[in-house]
Amino acid sequence: MIKFCPLASGSSGNSIFAGTENTRILIDAGVSGKKIQEALASIEEDAAKLDAIFVTHEHVDHIKAVGILSRRFDIPIFATEGTWQNMERELGAISRKNKCIIYSGEKNIVNDICIKAFDIPHDAAQPVGYNIFAGDTKLTVATDMGHYNDDIKENLADSNAILLEANHDIDMLKKGSYPFSLKQRILGLNGHLANVTAGSLLGDVMSEKIKHVYLGHLSNDNNTEEIAYETVRKVLASRNIIVGKDFEMEMAKRDCASRYIKL
Ligand SMILES: [Zn+2]
Ligand SMILES: [Zn+2]
Repeated sequence: MIKFCPLASGSSGNSIFAGTENTRILIDAGVSGKKIQEALASIEEDAAKLDAIFVTHEHVDHIKAVGILSRRFDIPIFATEGTWQNMERELGAISRKNKCIIYSGEKNIVNDICIKAFDIPHDAAQPVGYNIFAGDTKLTVATDMGHYNDDIKENLADSNAILLEANHDIDMLKKGSYPFSLKQRILGLNGHLANVTAGSLLGDVMSEKIKHVYLGHLSNDNNTEEIAYETVRKVLASRNIIVGKDFEMEMAKRDCASRYIKL
């Protein structure tokens, strides 16, 4: 049995908990340490018992409390070499034994959980998404992706639960107040995944194995929960995939723990 719970999700900060009876990990810690501790407490988990923090990339909405938590509770941090080079200064002093380098495609064992990173297209040094395996269960965290490719589809396929980015509504972004260069960055191949693209990706990988999808990492300015959910639902309906029947889908909450699922 594995528990899976987004603790915070959105362009303002991201952290995801996954754990078994014996092991507790975070993917990213991009809100304050206090918020993460509170969110963990709300699902009856203890930050002091975390076994590892895996980091997707160096952007502040993913690393804000990584150094703080590591120092406070002596937690090892896992990240790619490129991410380490670009985040280390922001983290503050990290003890040598808690600095762990991972490689895309290689499995990392933490007690009874296995975590594998995969490359994602994003404007960071060496960004990754993660597959988390426990027993027969596979979870996937895939946010901060400008587009998707066959490799990403393979990594999502056969997942039992997925946290997938639905960052923006393309029309809202284009008509919104962001400067042209920022719009181009977000819409670009290394930017963020639009709602409609999240729907296509889910449609491409959908199988009986997928039981639960959280849509997350929503833009504060260029999306709403309703628009994201409806856009993805409609893309899937056009392919005869019915949300609520074929699988469950919900929005990951921006500022607190979402409903946690056990698989
Ligand atoms: Zn990012
Ligand atoms: Zn982000």
